[in-house]
Amino acid sequence: MKKILFPILILAAALSLSAQDFSIARFKGDRKAAVSFTFDDGYLDQYTLAVPELERRGWRGTFWIVPTRIDHWGVKPLMSWEQIKELSDKGHEMSNHGLTHAHITQIPSEEVPHEIHDADTILAAHTGKFPITYCFAYGDCNPDIIKMAAENRVGIRFNQKTLGGSNTCTSLTGDLKKAIDDGEWLITMTHAMLDGYDQFEKIEDFTEFLDIVKKYETDLWIDTFENIASYTELQKATSLSVRKKSETTFVITPSCSLDQEIFKLTLTFRVDRKPSDSVKIKQGGKMLETRKVKNRWMAEINPFNGPITVKYIQSL
Ligand SMILES: [Zn+2]
Repeated sequence: MKKILFPILILAAALSLSAQDFSIARFKGDRKAAVSFTFDDGYLDQYTLAVPELERRGWRGTFWIVPTRIDHWGVKPLMSWEQIKELSDKGHEMSNHGLTHAHITQIPSEEVPHEIHDADTILAAHTGKFPITYCFAYGDCNPDIIKMAAENRVGIRFNQKTLGGSNTCTSLTGDLKKAIDDGEWLITMTHAMLDGYDQFEKIEDFTEFLDIVKKYETDLWIDTFENIASYTELQKATSLSVRKKSETTFVITPSCSLDQEIFKLTLTFRVDRKPSDSVKIKQGGKMLETRKVKNRWMAEINPFNGPITVKYIQSL
């Protein structure tokens, strides 16, 4: 009996619609991997040296700010509120690194909510944007504190790779290539550029890595920590149910358990089909802009905006 059943199942699968024709890309734009450049503690030379290098290449970074350390920290010059606001307005992410940069597991428990939430409030008052990511000072945390910090956020920075005086281009290039091969998200962490903790010997040690990333740019989604964290969580939490409406029309309904007030990015929806066919994709009554790469069509969908209609226009 088993010997007969197996080929029948294969045949049935070949004839029916495969839900695998419809999927959501791991990264926006169906790029192979993602990169975020993140910078800790708000050093002034991140503003003067790193930002122009990122912007020259069309990229935006993430800066973890300590709202009680502005203008300077001891003798080290830090960014001013004006500079922080300017970067925020230009699309860089200016986010929460704790109110006082405390070892958060070592302060009295009643101070922990202030360390986390008061920093949000102050940053939002200066930038006009409420932080939806977090980065623990010294990486110090425990499960209860992580739970508190994760509330109403798209992500917390873990798993970063140092990009600084102690770790420059050579080993990070290996990490970048591995991220591309494995479909992963590379998150770099830099402190001071030339003046402060883990500073580079010379700025070229930083730009050399940016130039390598630039070479692989067509494979990469390079964006802020917030955007890539947000997409990653949405992608994981969204499922698609597929219904065949007619020989050429399919209705794909996304469902997503996350809070749409926080998770606001669109997802890259993919349709795999014969290269000679063309495809029309609609959501919420609107025709979506489609892009074709080899046998795949893509469109940006909103996982909270109801069913997606895919109509094939078959070639003869
Ligand atoms: Zn720090």
